[in-house]
Amino acid sequence: MKIMSINCGSSSLKFKLFEMPEEKVLAEGIFERIGMEMGDYKISQFGSKKDYTEVALPDHSVAVELLLNELLKRGIVNSLEEIKGVGHRVVQGGKYFTESALVDEWSKGKVRELIDLAPLHNKAHLIGVEAFEKHLPGVKQIFVFDTSFHNRGMKEEAFMYAVPWRWYTEYGIRKYGAHGTSHEYLSKECARLMGKDVKDVNIITCHIGNGASLAAIEGGVCKDTSMGLTPLEGVPMGTRTGNIDPTVVSYIAEKEGKDAKTVVNELNKKSGYLGLSEYSSDARDLEEKEEQGDERAKLVFNVQAKRVVDYIASYWMYLGGKVDAIVFSAGIGENSPQFRERICARLFPIGVKIDKEVNNQRGKAFKFSTADSKIECWCIPTDEEVVIARDTVRLTQK
Ligand code: ADP
Repeated sequence: MKIMSINCGSSSLKFKLFEMPEEKVLAEGIFERIGMEMGDYKISQFGSKKDYTEVALPDHSVAVELLLNELLKRGIVNSLEEIKGVGHRVVQGGKYFTESALVDEWSKGKVRELIDLAPLHNKAHLIGVEAFEKHLPGVKQIFVFDTSFHNRGMKEEAFMYAVPWRWYTEYGIRKYGAHGTSHEYLSKECARLMGKDVKDVNIITCHIGNGASLAAIEGGVCKDTSMGLTPLEGVPMGTRTGNIDPTVVSYIAEKEGKDAKTVVNELNKKSGYLGLSEYSSDARDLEEKEEQGDERAKLVFNVQAKRVVDYIASYWMYLGGKVDAIVFSAGIGENSPQFRERICARLFPIGVKIDKEVNNQRGKAFKFSTADSKIECWCIPTDEEVVIARDTVRLTQK
């Protein structure tokens, strides 16, 4: 059975077509610069190289139509009827969703209601859903929420902010988290690699890419996560500050004659690696600088490492000092031995010991803690798309 996994952004559409239940990727690609004067798309078929086409993509519907035509033209599907379900990644599911959900009028209404909390994302997800409704009428679609894994597990004490209660009841101000699909995948995959049932292990997952978040997972249940109402909370990231004193917002607004929204935008887009280094938001660029002896680059990484370790230490505590494994994933977590070493070196007090040789690999799953480490350390590539495909099979076959 062929299942499509979709991630729609405001000007992009990423897809992976799976053969399920084998979980074989038949084709994948991305449509970009949708809605701009000129767009483009890249598609790679299983076993072939990615090819690139420049074409105007006035809206998501045109992108979906082109995608389906390409699948037919390339013989990846012989008929569109072979596609039995489409799963969409959704950034914000708010308090409503603790599980993935079938796309229907109710769930679409809720995703629409939550646009305020994720303006660019949720709007784009709905546009993507409508484009598939038009071009694959009758095919069941699924919403898979970045928030539902967290929402299912976190207690009130973990997700409530100490703000006026009314802000919560009237506006839904609380922690929702993000990257939930990735954290869930990583915890299950780590348990599988450890040869254990996820119910029997406690794991701290570190999804560290351009966006970065951590989660404390007890027996497969998420007890806390570092992102908040929006992805701005938590650890410093490529362009996001992570936690700061909120007073900074009004202070800078006043000093620079800006409104709060503009300052928050700078906390989202001009801070983190980029803001501190005044050079780049990309870890590779900064690692290169650091290797050349650049003190600022070193400081940037140390600021982040301190905060990441603060979270790990607090999650270790929250999990009762019983942590079986720490997992590193996403662009930086998977690919940067330096990043993993920097973090693990600071975890010595809780008994973490790593093998630097083994750690010096990238982009595949491996354990790099030593046999006498009290906590296992794993590098595991994340796979959000396969979770979307699995949920799509589960819900469309019901
Ligand atoms: P996003 O949050 O946009 O999905 P990614 O997970 O793709 O981000 O991560 C992007 C980050 O991963 C960038 O900072 C990039 O420099 C970093 N990265 C990718 N490959 C490497 C590498 N080989 N070494 C160090 N960092 C890397």
